[in-house]
Amino acid sequence: MRRVVVIGGGLAGLASAVWLAEAGDQVTLLERRGRLGGRTLGFPLNEADGEMVDNGQHVIAGSYDYILKYLDSVGTRKFVAFPDTFGIRAADGTTATLGVRARDQLRLWTGRVPGIGVRDVMRSVLPHLRMMAASLRPKDELDEITVEQWFDRIGMPQALRRMLWWPVALGVLNEVPPLASAHALASVMRTGNRKALRHGRRAFSIGYPTVDLRTLYLTGPRRCSRRRASTSGCVPRPRGSRWTVAGCGA
Ligand SMILES: Cc1cc2nc3c(=O)[nH]c(=O)nc-3n(C[C@H](O)[C@H](O)[C@H](O)COP(=O)(O)OP(=O)(O)OC[C@H]3O[C@@H](n4cnc5c(N)ncnc54)[C@H](O)[C@@H]3O)c2cc1C
Repeated sequence: MRRVVVIGGGLAGLASAVWLAEAGDQVTLLERRGRLGGRTLGFPLNEADGEMVDNGQHVIAGSYDYILKYLDSVGTRKFVAFPDTFGIRAADGTTATLGVRARDQLRLWTGRVPGIGVRDVMRSVLPHLRMMAASLRPKDELDEITVEQWFDRIGMPQALRRMLWWPVALGVLNEVPPLASAHALASVMRTGNRKALRHGRRAFSIGYPTVDLRTLYLTGPRRCSRRRASTSGCVPRPRGSRWTVAGCGA
């Protein structure tokens, strides 16, 4: 049995620790903040009624293989829903339902999606092709510009930006398009395209948690550590900044 130290208890560190423990290693996870989750955390807004505030990874694309594998390991994958369609609420309050099914595409192409006319869709074909082409091999120059500047450059119609790309970019990059890196969006698209070859349209589906983020990402590893604690004698409880993770199967 190897003895391994994982530094950092965000999702990457947690997943590493859990998988190493699954493989039989003796793992100690160090986290300087005294709580697990890193940038993904849930905390009670009001202790009295238990209302939770979630901060961090809400949007889970179908191509996020490692996040989904981690959730499999800790037994909480069942708490991620992948609906065929997703609702969009634009900044101006317009709401619409979009999706990748044939009938949703038909609604889009026939101008029946609120906020996106047929002309907008037609005018977006070339810009979308340009985005696709750029995402096959993102050039360094995309690193110098924001998502919004990229849209200006390729002529993406405002309606498509407002109703589709702004919410998507915000969801996957956690940054508004005037600030987000065009290279980062192109890289995400590249990953999605690559995964689509393997997973089909699931790679482009958008999942969301049906429980709070603490339950989704943190309760699993803690719970299985505690379960193991009685039999393996590991120390799952946080002691200072140190956790011991052992044999955390689902
Ligand atoms: C508000 C918000 C919304 C988001 N929404 C989404 C989303 O919808 N979809 C999506 O895909 N992504 C989203 N993200 C991004 C996602 O949350 C992060 O990519 C992910 O949580 C990063 O995990 P990580 O483990 O790589 O890093 P972190 O979460 O940053 O974890 C690193 C950990 O290491 C610890 N650490 C650092 N140095 C040391 C040290 N020397 N010793 C000990 N510990 C150390 C830190 O304290 C931290 O806990 C969002 C992020 C935020 C903030």
